[in-house]
Amino acid sequence: MNSAHSFSTATILIVDDQAGARATMKGLLANQGYHLEFAASGQEALEKVEAIIPDVILLDVMMPDMDGFEVCRQLRKNPTLAELPIIMLTALDDRESLSQGMEAGADDFMSKPVDRFLLRARLKNITRLNRFRSLYEARQKSEMTRQKAAQQQHIIAFLGQRALELSDLALFFDEALSLLRSILQIDQLYLLQSAPSATSNNPNLRLIHSTSASEPPTHDFSGEITNVLGFALRQTDHVDIEDIHQPHSLHIPSYFLQQDIQQLTIKAIGRSKDRWGLLCLGERRTRVYTQEELQLLRSVISIFTSAVERHEVHKKLQYELSHDSVTGLPNREHFERILDDSLAQNLRTLQLLGVALLRINNLHPLTHSLGQQTRRLIRKGVTHVIQQHLTEACEIASLSGDQFGILFSRLQKPEEVTQRMRPVIEALSQPIDIEGFPIHILITCGIALAPLHASERNELLRYADTANDQAIQLGETIAVFEPVEKTYAPHHFLLAAEIHQAIKNREFFLEFQPKVDLETSAPIGAEALVRWSHPKRGRMAPNLFIEVAEQTALIRPLTRLIIEEALQAMETWDVDQIEGFRLAINLSPSTLYDPHFIPTLEELLKQYDCRPEHLIFEVTETAVLSHFDLANRTLQALLEKGIHIAIDDFGTGYSSLNYLSKLHVNELKLDRSYVITLDNKRTYTIVKYIIQMSRELGLKVIAEGIEDQPLVDTLKEMGCRLGQGYFYSRPLPNDAFISYLAEHTPT
Ligand code: C2E
Ligand code: MG
Ligand code: MG
Repeated sequence: MNSAHSFSTATILIVDDQAGARATMKGLLANQGYHLEFAASGQEALEKVEAIIPDVILLDVMMPDMDGFEVCRQLRKNPTLAELPIIMLTALDDRESLSQGMEAGADDFMSKPVDRFLLRARLKNITRLNRFRSLYEARQKSEMTRQKAAQQQHIIAFLGQRALELSDLALFFDEALSLLRSILQIDQLYLLQSAPSATSNNPNLRLIHSTSASEPPTHDFSGEITNVLGFALRQTDHVDIEDIHQPHSLHIPSYFLQQDIQQLTIKAIGRSKDRWGLLCLGERRTRVYTQEELQLLRSVISIFTSAVERHEVHKKLQYELSHDSVTGLPNREHFERILDDSLAQNLRTLQLLGVALLRINNLHPLTHSLGQQTRRLIRKGVTHVIQQHLTEACEIASLSGDQFGILFSRLQKPEEVTQRMRPVIEALSQPIDIEGFPIHILITCGIALAPLHASERNELLRYADTANDQAIQLGETIAVFEPVEKTYAPHHFLLAAEIHQAIKNREFFLEFQPKVDLETSAPIGAEALVRWSHPKRGRMAPNLFIEVAEQTALIRPLTRLIIEEALQAMETWDVDQIEGFRLAINLSPSTLYDPHFIPTLEELLKQYDCRPEHLIFEVTETAVLSHFDLANRTLQALLEKGIHIAIDDFGTGYSSLNYLSKLHVNELKLDRSYVITLDNKRTYTIVKYIIQMSRELGLKVIAEGIEDQPLVDTLKEMGCRLGQGYFYSRPLPNDAFISYLAEHTPT
């Protein structure tokens, strides 16, 4: 239908070779509200119809070059004109012409000369029907447009919402791009981000998302500024960035061509001066996007732009919350988070970590006399000096107005922190220039190391702080934390460093001492005892290093190593041959309070395929009693797994038997000091009482340090059934222990 006239005026094409006939028609239809067009031949009619698409054709049959029937047939061949109403005008009022006209596709016939009223009535009917149809079609079309528009609104609302919900920008783009791809049926979508250092001359573009790859893509487009990407990135806002379909002067980067992309449509994300990146729509075949699709793309791009902007604002806010505004350094909270992460990492990898705490000791009086502005300048100046001298990997933070924290991870040796801090301190001992005035600051630096001093963040920071006080007391500018407890001889620090290295070098090994049934002398288990094969000092007994390990955090990795070695050794024994066989492992008190202990143990049991029924842990009374509830909880967890617990050196600690009924234990190990003084009447009575009471509580009793036969007899007489000591065997290296088992296990 001719859209220009379809609702108001109907167009009628009058086809007749005779000018008189055309004039008559014009007269008949004048002032009827029609738009009239004329054609003087069949050929002209065909051409005109295509051009104007009339509402009705009045077609003369008798024409010289091409008759009306032929015109009709030609018109019907064209699918767009198949429905065009054709009224044939014929002088021949015979059936033959009628049927010929019908076959050719005419809708109606009128004989010439035409009846004026009949003609008007027919035309009125036809054009009214036509108008109705066009109205109906227009309405249907607008309904479809409305539905499409509603769907697009829906998508835009959804994406807008997701942009708000998903704080992770990558996640949002991931979702948005796959949605866009499926809705618009785009072959591939690519998201390119320009690096912060990018300029309009060097866009420095990086592919960060692609619907063609399941893995995050890594392609770098830096340097490809001459191509279409650089062009798109340089577009300004007021030039509406329309599609750039294969611009002739700009080549498509080979990356896309390799993926068989033939057409690239690019939209820039971000404001004109501050382009965040590009969205590229790749098609394998040339495609023209409809106006609606382009509109949707524009809306999506503006959602992307606001998502990016919001993200940047959020990032800025996060930065401000985690950084000190004067120095621009990470603040205390941020530093603590970094420290926690590094500690967790270092403990896993057994790396040495150091914290240096720099303190400006006279900042307070300086502020008092020179004011806040000077205070800010001093803090800035100090920051500058620290940054200048610490160029290699470390984390510098401003912990408070007068304190800076510096974290060194993965140290090679403990002295490294002091070595690296020394130049900083020396530089800061010189007056610093504050607006032309030399200002003397009094700086000290305290250092603490993990795991040598502590392996927990607050403890480590506290020790570094204490080291600062120690520096001041000693009149030094730099000091490494020195524990002040009496047991801590000065050489302990060095020993701790050596232990740390020895764990890494696996210089520790185990010996196994059999535990026996006093009646049959047959082995019922063994105790694992650690030794250190020191590279310089040779073999070292546990009492020379366990205490230092316990005072530092080194006991954790050491215990892990011991358990691992023990389980490894047990794999070489035929423990199923011996009923109730259990290997005893000594646990230090702090192990019972270590939240990582049980998970580590579980991991090792699994790794060495060890049944918990083959283990017993020995703990001391003191260990349990100093934090009864906490320790008891760990013991209970172990018992629930089927691991037994023995109280080692029983009788040397509190010797209070009260707590035993509440404690989750299975065995008491009578301390050697009791065992060897059984000839003393008082000791004899106590031990007898212990054995009797243990029986009532369902606890086993084992005597340790048995060195001769008479002792065995006495113990048996008292009702003690189990024992351990040189009389049976000294602690043995694994090979010898295997032989021992073979010799002494009854068959
Ligand atoms: P403990 O657990 O009471 O171990 C028994 C100690 O007595 C062992 O000394 C053992 O060699 C010694 N011994 C055994 N029978 C006799 C005997 O008939 N006469 C004499 N005079 N001594 C005997 P060791 O191996 O020097 O261990 C000393 C302590 O070191 C242990 O006392 C235990 O508290 C600690 N220890 C040993 N290995 C480990 C370990 O792997 N982890 C922990 N945390 N501590 C351990
Ligand atoms: Mg023991
Ligand atoms: Mg003992």
